[in-house]
Amino acid sequence: MAKIMAVNAGSSSIKFQLLEMPAETVITSGVMERIGLAEGIFTIKYDGKKEETHPVLPTHAEGVQLLLETLISKGIVKDLNEISGVGHRVVQGGEYFKDSCLVDDTVIQKIQDLADLAPLHNPAHIIGIKAFQKALPNVPQVVVFDTVFHQTMAEEAYMYATPYEWYEKYGIRKYGAHGTSHKYVSQRAAELIGKPLEETNTIVCHLGNGASISAVKGGKCIDTSMGLTPLEGIPMGTRSGSLDPTVVSYICEKEGKTAQEVVNILNKKSGYLGMSGRSNDARDVTQGMIEGDHRCKLTFDVQAKRIVDYIAAYYVYMGSCDVIAFTAGMGENLKHLRLNIANRLGALGVKIDEKLNDTFSDERIISTPDSKIKLYIIPTNEEVMIARDTVRVAKI
Ligand code: ADP
Repeated sequence: MAKIMAVNAGSSSIKFQLLEMPAETVITSGVMERIGLAEGIFTIKYDGKKEETHPVLPTHAEGVQLLLETLISKGIVKDLNEISGVGHRVVQGGEYFKDSCLVDDTVIQKIQDLADLAPLHNPAHIIGIKAFQKALPNVPQVVVFDTVFHQTMAEEAYMYATPYEWYEKYGIRKYGAHGTSHKYVSQRAAELIGKPLEETNTIVCHLGNGASISAVKGGKCIDTSMGLTPLEGIPMGTRSGSLDPTVVSYICEKEGKTAQEVVNILNKKSGYLGMSGRSNDARDVTQGMIEGDHRCKLTFDVQAKRIVDYIAAYYVYMGSCDVIAFTAGMGENLKHLRLNIANRLGALGVKIDEKLNDTFSDERIISTPDSKIKLYIIPTNEEVMIARDTVRVAKI
């Protein structure tokens, strides 16, 4: 048995999960937030307990140090040598990274070089990697990229019809996101229907605050809704999803804004938040819909319609589909959104079982036995994928 730490470092936070491999059991998990502010928040779950403290965490290095000390002081591990590997989530790996890999100076430099495509994420990941390197110098560190799963897309799927030099000079193309989640869910879908992965076609709907759809044919991603950045695709919590780019220049002119300012609005003030005028949180928008607010209902209808546009296109592109899987905060919890989507898929022979859709439990089928495509809720598990890759790549 080996203990693997799966890490997701953000600009002011570190999410972690320590897993026992290959059993894939979670030993402890938690998050350090508000790093760099006057008072941090450190939440840790272990042995059925959840504890929260408010330490001062000037940088990620102090956060990692405190986490490791806590593992010892709470008896979660007896010795830090029990940790055999650390796996780090990295949002953007560009075209350079085709698989997870061990961290060295060249890898860190390359992640930095790709920061133009993920300015909020990649630099934060590097800070997290360096903090763990310093604290655990003899433990292999592995990076697991969100973009790798989408690297199997064909040229025709990832290219934009923009001047070809933009691709050559600046790497303008679709990279996708949430790849680790799409990979986990599509593999799990094949297991659940008892079909070999190579013969299973799945459409994964990752519907969280950030949301993306992917077409996974025989275990390989052949298309995905997010693009150069996570702004493309379906409407999300605060993102508009795809639109006519002329909207940007039009609003610049009307409101005297720069293109960057308008893109910022499309990223941070659109989607659920912008349309409903209430909140980016689907629970608040649901409440508005129940109260009869037209814009709240419209928010869900616009998103459901756009999700179905992708599902229909991906169905045709794959040639057939065994499973449509729902995952992430909204995919797992919003029964009215799943129903809204499923009710638009009658042409594909999709039939949702409303009782199963309403029942609260985790992983489950929610379609009727005669539905031509099975509908599943599959809670995502990115940490287990990071731990699996860490074991594989570091040969633990
Ligand atoms: P991300 O990881 O992209 O930040 P999540 O996967 O956590 O997002 O999803 C967040 C979304 O899921 C929010 O819109 C939230 O309202 C919704 N959500 C989470 N839990 C529930 C729930 N129990 N009921 C309804 N919606 C939920």
